[in-house]
Amino acid sequence: MSIAKKPLIVITGASSGIGLATARLFSGLGHPLLLLARRLAPMEQLGLPNTLALAVDVTDRAAMLDAVAQAERQYGPADAIVNNAGVMLLGDITQQDPDEWDRMLDINVRGLLNGILAVAKGMVQRQHGTIVNVSSIAGRKAFPNHVAYVGTKFAVTGLSENLREELSPHGVRVVTIEPGAVETELLGHTTDEGIKQGYQAWKQDMGGVVLSADDVAGAIGYAYNQPQGVCIREIVLAATRQQA
Ligand code: NDP
Repeated sequence: MSIAKKPLIVITGASSGIGLATARLFSGLGHPLLLLARRLAPMEQLGLPNTLALAVDVTDRAAMLDAVAQAERQYGPADAIVNNAGVMLLGDITQQDPDEWDRMLDINVRGLLNGILAVAKGMVQRQHGTIVNVSSIAGRKAFPNHVAYVGTKFAVTGLSENLREELSPHGVRVVTIEPGAVETELLGHTTDEGIKQGYQAWKQDMGGVVLSADDVAGAIGYAYNQPQGVCIREIVLAATRQQA
């Protein structure tokens, strides 16, 4: 009996957290993968079969396009991209270094658009494919010290809905994933120690148990593994004890 070959899946931000968990999940299901992040070692250390891991900054448009083209030559057309790479630099808007706003806008929004650019045309030509954009519950509502980050995630949620409407006549699905707090490296890049402590205290208030990266990977896998005629447009998930 011949087993159908699984198609290529591209995952950005695969060197830690949600992206890394998603890489493990899809590899376990037999997909060849293109893994992208700036740090190569954690992706290579996964030791996943049929996987091309490349050190690519998602803000580098040419490098993103080259990486996807290279993986497609090796494994065939990308059937899905998980646009997951992101940074969260929380800050008091009156105090925060505006360079941090720029970094978040560049990575979370422009970087994500680069991922879309790398696959959308091919998917439309093939009338098949799935674009998964990792937004956040902060793409739907406000949180303290989140102004610029919330701005980037509202942008992701908004552009994803627009993209879904534009690609749906071509049989291409667009899925928006909006997690609440997840235990990953994400908070570690915030530079304001007081805000970091406040965020940790908030997590303790909900019993210290937030989502795991595997929980979010499971939601991404669930959406992708529906029949192509079924589009799970949006998944909002958070720890049961997360009130806000
Ligand atoms: P992590 O910090 O663990 O992972 C972020 C990933 O993004 C890393 O692999 C990092 O790799 C990559 N990344 C960051 N900047 C770039 C860049 N310029 N180019 C390429 N890759 C980059 O955090 P999470 O797993 O939590 O975050 C993943 C996504 O989930 C983000 O979009 C985040 O906003 C979102 N999210 C997270 C929540 C949480 O509570 N953790 C809640 C809701 C949404 P490297 O540094 O090697 O480049």
